[in-house]
Amino acid sequence: MKEQKNRREVLKLLALSGFSVFLPSCLHSEKKTGNGAATSLDTTVKDTIASFEEAVTVNDVVYFRKTDKEYDELRQSFNLNVQKFPLIIALCKNTVGVAAAIKLANAEGLKVAVKSGGHSFESFSSIDNGLQINLSLLKSTTWNDDQTVTIEPACTLKEMYDELLPKNRIIPAGSCATVGIGGLTLGGGYGFFARKYGLTCDHLIEAILVDGLGNVHTTKTGEELMWALRGGGNGNLGVVTKLTFKTHKVPYGFTRHRFKAYKLDKERTKELLQAYFKYSAALPESCFAAFVLNYKTMVLLITNYGEDNEPLREMLDAFSTLADKTSIGTKKNLAVSLRNYYGIQHPIYFKNASAGYYKGYESIETSIDAVLNVVFRKRGLIYQINTLGGAINTPEFESNSCYPHRNIPYLSELQAYWEEGKNPEVLIESFEEIQGILYDHGIKRQYRNYPHKGFKDWETAYYGDNYKKLQEIKKKYDPNDVFSHEQTVKLKKY
Ligand SMILES: Cc1cc2nc3c(=O)[nH]c(=O)nc-3n(C[C@H](O)[C@H](O)[C@H](O)COP(=O)(O)OP(=O)(O)OC[C@H]3O[C@@H](n4cnc5c(N)ncnc54)[C@H](O)[C@@H]3O)c2cc1C
Repeated sequence: MKEQKNRREVLKLLALSGFSVFLPSCLHSEKKTGNGAATSLDTTVKDTIASFEEAVTVNDVVYFRKTDKEYDELRQSFNLNVQKFPLIIALCKNTVGVAAAIKLANAEGLKVAVKSGGHSFESFSSIDNGLQINLSLLKSTTWNDDQTVTIEPACTLKEMYDELLPKNRIIPAGSCATVGIGGLTLGGGYGFFARKYGLTCDHLIEAILVDGLGNVHTTKTGEELMWALRGGGNGNLGVVTKLTFKTHKVPYGFTRHRFKAYKLDKERTKELLQAYFKYSAALPESCFAAFVLNYKTMVLLITNYGEDNEPLREMLDAFSTLADKTSIGTKKNLAVSLRNYYGIQHPIYFKNASAGYYKGYESIETSIDAVLNVVFRKRGLIYQINTLGGAINTPEFESNSCYPHRNIPYLSELQAYWEEGKNPEVLIESFEEIQGILYDHGIKRQYRNYPHKGFKDWETAYYGDNYKKLQEIKKKYDPNDVFSHEQTVKLKKY
């Protein structure tokens, strides 16, 4: 009872105080203080605050409230379009701090969201009136003897590449600089290198997770929890505080080719799309391609970090004829080339989402006319189709992970961006209309890392048949449903 009372007082104080409070371990009884004395649950809040200088050295979490000046910066997601306001932000210094913050949330009946890089399209890493576990201090990388590397979840992709590439090692991942390795890995993770090596989550060999009760687990390949974290770990089961990855030798050189076609109408766009699917299907695993339709302009990107090859030459020849502008690249240094794709590194207004996995042109044949009608109606909508396939579809990766879309070789994405003060309503309506058209034409698989709150049947769209097993695992690791928002795995009702 007393423990409960103290926690309430702490929360009350957090709500009233004008300062960021370094909350000591009065919330977890076994923790030792810096001078060796056990932190007592009987410590009064007043004493605690009075001695917070000492507490800083021994406690592993800093709590912020709405009135604190750091609150907004810590809270802000990459997507300015989805604003959320946690009651408390728990800035955790390490795994022990995460466990303490989760125990606090349990005691106070608060729901919890987890933020690493903050790039969730729907700001699922934040939460209104709940507790945000903010991992932005957890960014370190540690090399292990066997060329594996342990990375903390808020390490950004740029920070990761800056650490790995000079050592001539790489983990297949995305390319945007400020995306966090935590969220990217736990939902899958793909980019230029996935067709050759597999997804980012396929390279995760060990992880530390703090579950919904505040218990700490280490998991490895072959274990149920690891299976779930590979594709189903985004804020569903607990907080991952360390991720260990196997790495690959950096491939030599990187070539980029680009084609553009302007003032497109439907017929020409369909011709370009058909050619895209036909030629990209034959590309070797070292190649990646993206078909980007921005209103009536097409940009086709094709990259390669392997040898020159016949299918690539055929695709380049075909698009040299089909497109209006051709730019054939030469081999450049890979690290330098990757910087071209770092993208915008500050929060922006946008609405992005997965627009389905496709087997080939046949997947969109019946819907493409209707989709193009909408894309061509108003400037500002981007409809993109990227190549997957290759090593992503390795049976060993499939059995060791809950990512369920391996045998589908293309992933599509819808995007809309706007500036502050502009009204995005019409763009968002068009966005929803396209999602509806695709759904009605049987496009029902979606990438968990490109979420959209409006997806019907999101459970199977993201996780396929694996959803039921994820529910069982959720019951073991988060029985109180502490990690809970619109699209977290739900506890099964019996
Ligand atoms: C500009 C941009 C570029 C992108 N490029 C790519 C790309 O090339 N390839 C690709 O595959 N994806 C890409 N994505 C999607 C990206 O993978 C997801 O947005 C990813 O979830 C972001 O991770 P984060 O840590 O930055 O985000 P966050 O918002 O911090 O987290 C995303 C989700 O994961 C959960 N989560 C985060 N950290 C943890 C943790 N430690 N433990 C448990 N759950 C956690 C959060 O609760 C949330 O649900 C891109 C997104 C953006 C905005």
